Amino acid sequence: MNDDKCIFCRIVKGLENANIIFQDEQATAFWDINPIAPVHILIVPNKHIESINSLQEEDTLLIGNLFLIAKRIASDLKIDEKGYRLVINTGPDGGQTIYHIHLHLIGGRKFFPVFK
Ligand code: AMP
Ligand code: ZN
Repeated sequence: MNDDKCIFCRIVKGLENANIIFQDEQATAFWDINPIAPVHILIVPNKHIESINSLQEEDTLLIGNLFLIAKRIASDLKIDEKGYRLVINTGPDGGQTIYHIHLHLIGGRKFFPVFK
């Protein structure tokens, strides 16, 4: 998948419509088109990285920064105290459907423990 065909690259470049709530030189955050909770935001690196499986050492800060952005958005949307869930799906068994790394920020309702 090259950057021109990747839907998230296209959103980052403004070539595809999305409800963007944050963007800087490194990352972009936008509302998920098919939300599973009142708050469902995707935070993506502007650089095309397919999945956690293709992460390189040099991407460490870029990926770490996605979590700081999530923290700030959670605070702005006032879900920080009640809590929220951060998820990165990886590969077919992980439920990844779009092969451009994205951190799901989901909240505004209660989630139950995943591992039971
Ligand atoms: P994943 O299954 O982890 O790869 O997540 C992909 C997510 O992207 C899903 O939650 C979709 O609803 C969401 N999605 C797909 N296309 C778009 C789009 N054009 N704008 C916003 N979110 C999208
Ligand atoms: Zn991409």
